[in-house]
Amino acid sequence: MLRHLLLAAAGSDRLGRLAASAPFSKNAARRFVAGDDVEAALRTGRILADDGLAVTFEHLSAETRSAEQAVAVRDEYRALLGRLKGAGLVPAAEVSVKLSALGQRLDEKLAYEHALAVCAAATEAGTTVTLDAEDHTLTDSTLEILTELRKDHPGTGAVLQAHLRRTEGDCRELATAGSRVRLCKGAYAEPESVAFQSSLDIDKSFVRCLNILMSGEGYPMVATHDPRLIAIAEDRARWFDRASDEYEFQMLHGVRTEEQARLAAGGNVVRVYVPYGEQWYGYLVRRLAERPGNVAAVGRGLVGR
Ligand code: FAD
Repeated sequence: MLRHLLLAAAGSDRLGRLAASAPFSKNAARRFVAGDDVEAALRTGRILADDGLAVTFEHLSAETRSAEQAVAVRDEYRALLGRLKGAGLVPAAEVSVKLSALGQRLDEKLAYEHALAVCAAATEAGTTVTLDAEDHTLTDSTLEILTELRKDHPGTGAVLQAHLRRTEGDCRELATAGSRVRLCKGAYAEPESVAFQSSLDIDKSFVRCLNILMSGEGYPMVATHDPRLIAIAEDRARWFDRASDEYEFQMLHGVRTEEQARLAAGGNVVRVYVPYGEQWYGYLVRRLAERPGNVAAVGRGLVGR
């Protein structure tokens, strides 16, 4: 019930405007979001890098409904990438990008061109881009754009969602030499026709996908906070004889930070997903919907503790 209420709130423009204008809600968001702008993102990135963690930055923007918005998102990423070296964040930091924010739902070719410009800026900065996975209606288009981008920028990362029934096949396709693949459970509500619905079926699919990626030739990026799946990933990395720089763990900023530190202290690469930007409200509420227990922690943030 709380989850449904929170997801409805996440999609509300009116609540978003109200929340963004209230200074106390920024306090609440701080645990999960770096801040409004590039400066805040770089500051958070530096703190994490000093703790031995890698970073992937994501700019949180409003849904892209015009070509002008897509250009603004492209330019935001180029500006951020242009600052990474100077901030001492190369090679620790890369960026995560939603193709829909670059205009994929308006014009796929335009989104590809913008993504190519972002990848060129990343290559210039000495780092990489990972293309986020969105809902299943965009999966084919995203993987096609990935293939094109990799011709010039082979380090471009893919994201595959274990809850989609197609994903085992996509893992097989993408487990090739040098291929960076983030495996996550999947954050979007999907119909039964395309996606597993129960946690058990999603977890089982995650393990099957993990086996394919860990036994393949690519670079698996294991994005989960789930202790059972993390333990299985550690086991598979040992079983398939992967050195600690041949895979990585990824978690969200502010989520299971002690586990992030434990894995990093054990010699693992741990990359923290650091979102920033003025559109943090929807992101924050989606995190709360995933784990309503966090409402209490954010509530403490609301009153400044
Ligand atoms: P969950 O099923 O949420 O949790 C499983 C278990 O993990 C819980 O039972 C608990 O034991 C533990 N746990 C989880 N959260 C906490 C917490 N806050 N405190 C303590 N224990 C906790 N999704 C997409 O669809 N597309 C993407 O591109 C994408 N990129 C991502 C990038 C990163 C780096 C990460 C970490 C996630 C990404 N996701 C993405 C989101 C992902 O699909 C899941 O929705 C999200 O990570 C929650 O799933 P989970 O595997 O962490 O486990």
